[in-house]
Amino acid sequence: MRKVNTLIIGSGAAGLAAALRLNGEGVKDILLLSEGLSRGTSINTGSDKQTYYKLGIYGKEPDAPGLLAQTLFDGGSVHGDIALIEATLSLRCFMNLANLGVPFPTDEFGQYIGYKTDHDPKRRATSCGPYTSKEMCLALIKAVKAAGVEIWENRTAGELVCCDDRVCGVVALNSDTGALESILAENVIFATGGPGGLYAQSVYPCGHSGAIGLALEKGCSAQNLPESQFGMASIKFRWNVSGTYMQVLPRFISTAPDGSDPKEFLRDHFGDDIGKMNSMVFLKGYQWPFDVRKAENGSSVIDLLVHHETAVRKRRVFLDYRSNPEGLDFSALSPEAYTYLERSGALFGTPLERLEKMNPGAISLYADHHIDLHSEMLEIAVCAQHNNGGLTGNIWYESPTLKSLFPIGEVNGSHGVTRPGGSALNAGQVGAFRAAEFIAHCRKENSFDMEKAERAAVQVKKHLEKFLSGSRDVHADRREFQERMTLYAGHLREHSSVMEALDAAKALFFAVEQGGYPAKFGAQALMNRQLAFAHWGYLSAIAFQISSGTGSRGSAAVLDENGNITPENESFRKQILETRFVNGDFHHRWVPCRPLPETDGWFENIWADYRNGNVYKTSAGDK
Ligand SMILES: Cc1cc2nc3c(=O)[nH]c(=O)nc-3n(C[C@H](O)[C@H](O)[C@H](O)COP(=O)(O)OP(=O)(O)OC[C@H]3O[C@@H](n4cnc5c(N)ncnc54)[C@H](O)[C@@H]3O)c2cc1C
Repeated sequence: MRKVNTLIIGSGAAGLAAALRLNGEGVKDILLLSEGLSRGTSINTGSDKQTYYKLGIYGKEPDAPGLLAQTLFDGGSVHGDIALIEATLSLRCFMNLANLGVPFPTDEFGQYIGYKTDHDPKRRATSCGPYTSKEMCLALIKAVKAAGVEIWENRTAGELVCCDDRVCGVVALNSDTGALESILAENVIFATGGPGGLYAQSVYPCGHSGAIGLALEKGCSAQNLPESQFGMASIKFRWNVSGTYMQVLPRFISTAPDGSDPKEFLRDHFGDDIGKMNSMVFLKGYQWPFDVRKAENGSSVIDLLVHHETAVRKRRVFLDYRSNPEGLDFSALSPEAYTYLERSGALFGTPLERLEKMNPGAISLYADHHIDLHSEMLEIAVCAQHNNGGLTGNIWYESPTLKSLFPIGEVNGSHGVTRPGGSALNAGQVGAFRAAEFIAHCRKENSFDMEKAERAAVQVKKHLEKFLSGSRDVHADRREFQERMTLYAGHLREHSSVMEALDAAKALFFAVEQGGYPAKFGAQALMNRQLAFAHWGYLSAIAFQISSGTGSRGSAAVLDENGNITPENESFRKQILETRFVNGDFHHRWVPCRPLPETDGWFENIWADYRNGNVYKTSAGDK
């Protein structure tokens, strides 16, 4: 049984940043435990131009933490104090990454140029290209190793160890030895990423499951679980088909399951208005997530049509870059699309030739993954990409209901209904800094009852040993819950079918818990257990949200009994949906958003509070 002051679970961009910051703050008794440094979303994903959102610091364009906080808050269902923190620390975290060598572009004067991303009123976004989060991880891994942080790879956290309403460690499976190992800790930084394993149609990297179920089952409260982002992605190699992949106007083809009967299916909807059809496809380039406000007359109609082909008509959908959509006439495009292509010198040729001109890297990216856009079509679907919701944290990113657990990164649900593209990466870095600072100032000493914790760890280990001597089939169960989530908890939701799915989800979890899996499934078995639990929680939250009457919002349309998209009740944007597992079931409640703090501090007073450590005593978010 190992004992450390702070255990960090997860080595994505958030977990790595926390380990490094703790070390920098003088907390040396730490252990970074993860499935592997090459695992998770941050190091394995990207997009056409993967975005990092930060405070604007370019030229004469004014920006301030309060203005950025307002933008984050305006996403709806966001706590104002958390928005201000994520805005204020944005610059410090960004500069930390820049100083570690992450190649964010500057001009010759050293200015960090920015661009506008979705839900962004200013040019605050930046990017290192398709692999921003990977660049972040590579720089952070180098620094974490140089700092001598102890790292345990090939470990899968199987269950949290808790006593006296707090977390005090974890039992993890060592995939090299097959042993279950207990680690006790005063603090657990929980940086396990988004719930990538929940959906069948998903653009999370293959093999990334997340671990939110481990915290949910111990009563850790969550918020905004129903708020996820969905959008079109290739499925043979998982990648968002955003940006130039859409702006070059590919042909949208659907076929029968065996590849026969190819058809340009968007025409069934757009009829002879080919100009409108192509203009909508163009817009998907920078309106990537499915957005209910753009569903009827905007670009998200493309997502709906793709989904209809795959889910209802059971056909396969492909993008074909080898020839133009039939009847393509550049002059019939919207002025926005026409001007963009004209200025890019791309009013010519086939989609592939335009892609070669505008973004050749987009072609080689697929070639690197054995997909040749010159000779084959690209299969796509509407996929789950990000969970805006997740576990609740107070203003120091500590769980208010499970003390000593600090959820950071995507597993922390600080975002609301919408968020500016790139704010996920910012939030992960900010959470890491806040948790590390708080631990360094307030939690360096051990406070839990060691004997009690050891006994709790033994119980957890026994439970997992029994679970790993079961007989169920991991693959069949995974298929079942992933398909359920894609069908009922995706971008189209309908109350009565969500209720049926909820009953089935609960039944599956209890069958998994009682039946267990053979030990040979190892980490996959433990993943299934927490995912089965999580999918019950997500469906329960979605059912509650729909019955509350929020209507359609963000990236999820709620359908009425006739299949029509219901309007949003915007009053719910001033509230946050909290979810907690207590007394054997999930319970939900709406809580008002805490407002944006009005701060006009007097330097001497704030300085005194800082010197006395009073800044760490505020309890916002602890109720
Ligand atoms: C296709 C795509 C494009 C995206 N584009 C953007 C973008 O442009 N801008 C943006 O801001 N965000 C974007 N995101 C979201 C962003 O990439 C993620 O939110 C972010 O990288 C998550 O970082 P993280 O550190 O929280 O988690 P991750 O990077 O997923 O790391 C989680 C870590 O936890 C480990 N782990 C999980 N479970 C366990 C367990 N049980 N035991 C041990 N270890 C465990 C994993 O192995 C991994 O090391 C995108 C996401 C996708 C999928």
